[in-house]
Amino acid sequence: MAGEESNKAMEVLPKALTFAHHLVEQAIKPGEWAIDATAGNGKDTEWLARLVGSEGLVYAFDVQEKALERTRERLQDKGLLSRTKLILQGHEHLKKHVLPEMGSRIEKEGGAGAVMFNLGFLPGSDHRVITKPETTIEAISQAMELLKRGGVITMVIYTGHSGGVEEKEMIYEHLAELEAENLVVLSYRFMNQGDNPPELVAIEKK
Ligand code: SAH
Repeated sequence: MAGEESNKAMEVLPKALTFAHHLVEQAIKPGEWAIDATAGNGKDTEWLARLVGSEGLVYAFDVQEKALERTRERLQDKGLLSRTKLILQGHEHLKKHVLPEMGSRIEKEGGAGAVMFNLGFLPGSDHRVITKPETTIEAISQAMELLKRGGVITMVIYTGHSGGVEEKEMIYEHLAELEAENLVVLSYRFMNQGDNPPELVAIEKK
């Protein structure tokens, strides 16, 4: 039972982020490691840190110092900071940071249990700093390499900001072409729930 949400019954059709949390919960076991590719306010980092447990590890990436400060504060308050590594770098550099430390563990035990993305801009901050299609797609490729079999990548996508629709379309185009034997790609999207509700894509590595 990882977080507050576990105490509530899950809605039949949960919101994109809640569904992402549910999928990640299925994929990670205590003691494993995971990646938050867009730390933002740190909510997903916290979710992952609870799931990996005291023996686990979570890497959290963001390009903004402000995001990592908020994440650090949140984790500190919850007593979870020691099981996380906060990295002020773009997620297009995931492998460069994670492989030197995790390479031999990946060979022995398999890779990350989950990699979470929450795209767009940091709420309450500079709306011009947004995730971009090219770097997002590069990060997905690297995340797939770092993922264990049975692990999951989740990506919550927002289209209400300038550049959001283009990013979504490029991601969907890219994901539809992934090989089907080892990778299962899901799109989860509400069709009649107002303007631009966030969408979820998820990739399971078989
Ligand atoms: N849209 C979400 C929050 C997204 S936060 C919501 O409304 O809740 C997205 C985070 O991604 C921001 O903190 C931003 O700084 C970060 N980001 C932007 N480009 C990035 C990159 N290349 N690598 C890692 N993080 C990035």
